[in-house]
Amino acid sequence: MAATRYRCTNCGNLTRFDVVTDRRTRAFHHYSVGGALSVEDEQVLSESVVEVTCRWCGHGRAVEVLADEPDGASADAG
Ligand SMILES: [Zn+2]
Repeated sequence: MAATRYRCTNCGNLTRFDVVTDRRTRAFHHYSVGGALSVEDEQVLSESVVEVTCRWCGHGRAVEVLADEPDGASADAG
């Protein structure tokens, strides 16, 4: 799974972002007799990025998504 990369065109930051994500998951909630919960087998059903903020600038107005690198392993037929 390729991670999405970002760049802040305001300050050049490539590595520090606050990312707000809406994520829908399904998981097996396994309770003990005493009621203690352990969450197992969590699967991500859908995921969407709501907001990306540059840590240095404090806003996301200049953040852009980096395109896939052309020489990367892009032949992955998911
Ligand atoms: Zn920035």
